[in-house]
Amino acid sequence: MTSDSQKFYDILIIGGGGAGLTAALYTSRAKLSTLLVEKLAPGGQIALTDLVENYPGFPEGITGGEISERMEDQAKRYGTEVLYEEVSGIEKSDGNFAVKTASGPTFQSRAVIVASGASYRNLGVPKEKELTGRGVSYCATCDGAFFKEKELVLVGGGDSAMQEGLFLTRFATQITVVHRRDKLRASPLLQERALQHPKIKFIWDTVVTEIRGEKKVEGVRLKNLKTEKAQDFKTDGVFVFIGHDPNTGFLKGLVELDEKGYVKTSGELQTSVPGIFACGEVRAGAVKQLVSCCGEGCEAALSAQAYLES
Ligand code: NAP
Repeated sequence: MTSDSQKFYDILIIGGGGAGLTAALYTSRAKLSTLLVEKLAPGGQIALTDLVENYPGFPEGITGGEISERMEDQAKRYGTEVLYEEVSGIEKSDGNFAVKTASGPTFQSRAVIVASGASYRNLGVPKEKELTGRGVSYCATCDGAFFKEKELVLVGGGDSAMQEGLFLTRFATQITVVHRRDKLRASPLLQERALQHPKIKFIWDTVVTEIRGEKKVEGVRLKNLKTEKAQDFKTDGVFVFIGHDPNTGFLKGLVELDEKGYVKTSGELQTSVPGIFACGEVRAGAVKQLVSCCGEGCEAALSAQAYLES
C-alpha cells in the first residue's frame, strides 16, 4: 500500500474557490494527475454568497452554493481528486514539491498552483471574539436566518457589505450600515440598491470601537471620526464585511509576498519559485471577481502545463 507521503501528482492545487476549481478543470482535462486540497468547502468565499449575478451565462443569477458544486463536479468529472484538509507548508525537494497538511499527510507534486484565496478581516475590537456566533457574524448567508425581525448593525462600505446587507433585509427589520467614510466603495449598482432600500440606514464617518453584551450582542459603541463623538447604539447583531487578508501563512519564507501578504507573480502567474504558480484572490494585483479568478485559474493551469513540458 502506498503511504500518503509517497502519493505523487503532476499538479497539486491549494484552494477550491473559483480559481482553484478552474485550474483543476484545465489540468485534469490535460491528463495531468491533479490533487486539489481545500480547507473548508468547494467554492471558497463564493459558496457563502447568496446570489451571483455577474458571472456570464446566468442571466437570472445563480446561487453561490450551486455554482460551487457545479464547478467541483466538473473538475472531478475529468479526474481531479479533491481532499478537504488544511495545507500547513510546502518544501522543495529534488525539483519536486512536498505539500504538508495540518493533520499529517504529505503529498508530492511536480508543480503547485496556489489558489488559497483570502479570509475575512476582523474588526479587532473588545468582545468581538467572545460574541462571535452570539450575534457577531461574518457571513449573512450562513447566519442571516437567525436574525428574523431583529435590528442589525453592518460594518463596511464595499461590495460584500452592500450585497450581504441587501440579503439580510429578507430577515431583519432594520439594518444600520456603519461606514468609516462618507462614500461607499461598492460598485454603483449595489450602492444604488442599498441607498434606496427602506430597511437600510447609514451612519457615515463612523467606526465601531466596542461590541457590547454578555451572553449575546446587545449593542455597539460607535465613534464619529470627524467629531470624535462617541455614542452607544442598541443592536441585536453585528455583521462585519471589511475586506480580507490573504491565506498565505503556509508560504512565508518560500515565495515572495507583497507588503500585505499577497503572492507576487510574473506575467505567466509564476511566483518567485519556478514550479509554483498563484491565481485568484491570493495573488497580488488580482481583480477579485469570480469571473476573473476563474480566468486566472485557467492561465495558471496552462502556465503550469508549459512548465511541466519544458
Ligand atoms: P473591500 O472592497 O476591500 O471593502 C472593504 C470595506 O471595508 C471598505 O468600505 C473599507 O472602507 C472598509 N474597511 C476596511 N477596513 C476597515 C476597518 N478596519 N474598519 C472599518 N471599515 C473598514 O472588500 P469587500 O467588500 O470584501 O470586497 C473584496 C473584493 O471582492 C472587491 O474587489 C469586490 O469588488 C469583490 N466583490 C465583488 C462582489 C460583486 O461583484 N457582487 C461581491 C463581493 C465582493 P474604505 O472604503 O474606507 O476603504
